[in-house]
Amino acid sequence: MLPDPFSYTALPMRVVFGRGLEPLAAEVEHLGIRRAVIISTPGPKPVVAAVTRIVGEAVVGVLAEAVMHVPVEVVDRCVQVSGDLDADGYIAVGGGSAIGLAKALALRTGLPIIAVPTTYAGSEMTPVWGITDNRIKRTGRDQAVLPRAVVYDPALSTDLPVDISVASGMNAIAHAVEGLYAPDRSPIVSLMAREGARALAAALPRVVDDPHDLPSRGEALYGAWLCGAVLGTTTMSLHHKLCHVLGGTFNLPHAHTHAIVLPHVLAFNAPFAADMVVALTDVFGDGEPWTALWNLQRSLPMPTALADIGFSATEIGEVARQVTASPYANPRPVTEDDVRVLLQRALVGHAPHPSTDMPVPSQS
Ligand code: NAD
Repeated sequence: MLPDPFSYTALPMRVVFGRGLEPLAAEVEHLGIRRAVIISTPGPKPVVAAVTRIVGEAVVGVLAEAVMHVPVEVVDRCVQVSGDLDADGYIAVGGGSAIGLAKALALRTGLPIIAVPTTYAGSEMTPVWGITDNRIKRTGRDQAVLPRAVVYDPALSTDLPVDISVASGMNAIAHAVEGLYAPDRSPIVSLMAREGARALAAALPRVVDDPHDLPSRGEALYGAWLCGAVLGTTTMSLHHKLCHVLGGTFNLPHAHTHAIVLPHVLAFNAPFAADMVVALTDVFGDGEPWTALWNLQRSLPMPTALADIGFSATEIGEVARQVTASPYANPRPVTEDDVRVLLQRALVGHAPHPSTDMPVPSQS
């Protein structure tokens, strides 16, 4: 069948997948980087040490200062230090926080980024940046922040704790879900979204069973790559808007927030996104995909209620106000009351449902 008319912009992505960390040295050389600064969170020191060993003398410093949601104060400080080091490129090592800080630096300095991702958030495949200033997370798109090269080595994620593995995998699935109903979706994006979600849904239970199983880590990373590429070329909708407000204003953990909210937005948008429902029924199996995803989540080690990660009922009104005051594109019109009901369900871990007319029980 002839697809509906579409346009698609391919991003210049250079990806080296599953060949270990050795190709990183050639990527650094290829980009002419002589004075690289490694950007990471304080956590994954062994991975940073391995990268430093591989890249050798071209590393002039390590800024292990990344934290969630990219606070502007951290960006200011790191721009100063990278200038003092006379850096000519960044190697972002870790998850979305490390890559996010490198992007914020690149936005100011114009220096190239090479990404070595070790979570499944997918930020390495997007030109999307985010910076939090005074409790408001601003996001934007700029080709200057798109990593020039990405080196995926599944072995680097074997020490990623399973709860973070699961949550960041769900974060990636959220990119796929929203790509399937984005206003600028296309058959190419939908292929990547379906395959990315499939790979993650298959791999995450196996990662939980054996975090050191390389094929499972590899399949999860492959899914993350595809889902990140979907986010990189499509417009974000209600789900990402909700998570940006919950993360930026209430400092909730990014990946867990995505994971908990996703089945609720999926159910809410389902009546207005038939193609998405068909695609995800194929991915998650028979039945309603929001219920299948919610059941998958309940079988994995992750919280399923926003109350469990520090959100409270008194904050729902502020989120509903912000989400509807500057809305993202969405297939279904969104009212403040819709957001309230959706968040009340997510708050207590109640089952997702497409209708927001039904009363929400106060307990799961
Ligand atoms: P994260 O980067 O904050 O990492 C989570 C935790 O895992 C950290 O404590 C980190 O130190 C640890 N960790 C990472 N790799 C590890 C490893 N190999 N071994 C052991 N520990 C390891 O989490 P995340 O979910 O990847 O990223 C969240 C951030 O990414 C948010 O700020 C979000 O807004 C951003 N994000 C941006 C995009 C985009 O396209 N711009 C996409 C997705 C996420």
